[in-house]
Amino acid sequence: MILIVGGAGYIGSHFVKKLVKNYDVVVLDNLSTGHRWAVDAKAIFIEGDLGDSTIVQRIFDTYKIKAVIHFAAFSLVSESVIDPMKYYENNVAATLNLLKAMKRNQINKFIFSSTAATYGMPTVDFIDEKTPTNPINPYGQSKLMVEQMLEDFAQSYQMKYVVLRYFNAAGAHETAEIGESHNPETHLIPIILQHLAGQRDSISVFGTDYDTPDGTCIRDYIHVTDLAKAHLLALEALLSSTIETATYNLGNGNGYSVKQIIETCELVTGKKANVQYAKRRAGDPAKLVANAGKIYTELGWKAQLDILDIIKSAWAWHKK
Ligand code: UDP
Repeated sequence: MILIVGGAGYIGSHFVKKLVKNYDVVVLDNLSTGHRWAVDAKAIFIEGDLGDSTIVQRIFDTYKIKAVIHFAAFSLVSESVIDPMKYYENNVAATLNLLKAMKRNQINKFIFSSTAATYGMPTVDFIDEKTPTNPINPYGQSKLMVEQMLEDFAQSYQMKYVVLRYFNAAGAHETAEIGESHNPETHLIPIILQHLAGQRDSISVFGTDYDTPDGTCIRDYIHVTDLAKAHLLALEALLSSTIETATYNLGNGNGYSVKQIIETCELVTGKKANVQYAKRRAGDPAKLVANAGKIYTELGWKAQLDILDIIKSAWAWHKK
């Protein structure tokens, strides 16, 4: 049995849908941002908080858990700047409780959702795992703190882990049954598509004076289906002891500016956006693009879906 914490969330629910094909799965999620309907019916669902040691202990007593995959975190850069305590409380303190419970129960295989935000404001064109980490917002900081705990726990308690640093997760499931659904929505692609579907009057571009070719921020968008595949490979590598500890970037290696994303959404939908140019948003670095060569070399993972696949699948989900 595999425990998926945060399996009702955007990325977690896509992974659960994949995992249930071959594994027994129990999902723990407090539904603070996730959705009960997004959890595949083949998984056992438990509503509760990862920081609640009674619930976590009950799960460990009831099921023979072989590995824990942890998606349950707050993940909005701007919110983390406004309310850092919320981020340290959930992303760090509650995660520590989960790790403590794992140690108590001698469960030592862990996959952790981390982020490109751990790199801060890198100056390199392509970020690899050796690029120094230096987060510029509490969200990135909270994820890096857990990465550091994992390193120490590996040394002292034989914790085996894979840290996956996602770049910008986007897209929806091929069935269009699940997709990106945050409330309120703050992410670029769903906001543009909501606007083009007639659910918002306009979209705002946050900052046009960045040091990039068109002045808007560049990101590396990675399909949630590609992310799910990477998690499965990481899990199998941990279960078979092929790897003991590893940190991998998950990105496409292609950067797109905010303006380019708007144009691509217009192309896919055949609709024209009403674009407002606004001030920079706090905590946003100018450019984040991955070099994901390490996970290709070690686990054979490579992104297979591109920006058109991402936006087409997200549009299919939005229309539904
Ligand atoms: N962005 C924007 N308008 C929006 C939402 C986002 O211009 O309504 C920009 C944002 O400033 C960033 C990029 O789009 O440069 C991606 O933002 P998102 O929130 O999707 O992901 P993040 O990179 O913050 O994880």
